[in-house]
Amino acid sequence: MEFFDFHHHKEYVRNGIYNLDFEQTPPDLPYSIGIHPKDIDIHNTEKQLDWMRSTVFQNCFAIGECGLDSLVPIDQKIQEKVFLRQIEIANEIKKPVIIHCVRKFYEVISFKKKAEQPMIIHGFNKKQQIAEDLLSNNFYLSFGKAVLYHLSLQDILKNTPLDKIFLETDNEDFKIEELYQKVSEIKGIALDQLNEQILENLHTIRNG
Ligand SMILES: [Zn+2]
Repeated sequence: MEFFDFHHHKEYVRNGIYNLDFEQTPPDLPYSIGIHPKDIDIHNTEKQLDWMRSTVFQNCFAIGECGLDSLVPIDQKIQEKVFLRQIEIANEIKKPVIIHCVRKFYEVISFKKKAEQPMIIHGFNKKQQIAEDLLSNNFYLSFGKAVLYHLSLQDILKNTPLDKIFLETDNEDFKIEELYQKVSEIKGIALDQLNEQILENLHTIRNG
């Protein structure tokens, strides 16, 4: 069985969404393209957004990772402006938005009403209450390696509806199969059923 890796940074992974580095030429893989908060160049944001617009080719699956990060030394107002512009690009080209968020979940939720396309929080690893607030605002949650060993995150996953879940390796070095195996145990469903569900979720977000 092949397992879909929703967000990764490895060009050798064929089945998943490769997150393009800033100013990289897309490889021949489904990819996401965005300006990570840490990569924002405050003097050149228009040029950065132009690069994005001109690099959205056929294999582009999503906009992102983009979002808000309270730990990077870029002014919050500028981060919000660049995030909003990327949401607008996603609306324009009708692609889902993969979100990077550090300690800014309620601000990110406030941007949801601007988005006409599905939004997915990647690498979700926070508390139950935040998960509930995101889910009730129609976000999807993508889970990564932390699920393998964090009991509280396993509980959150257990409470997250199957049709709101994605699984990813991000830049961690482990096999996505391990994560699917773990999640199928936590959710009490067969591995092939889980796999099918994730493919269905992909289909749903691709079609808005
Ligand atoms: Zn990443």
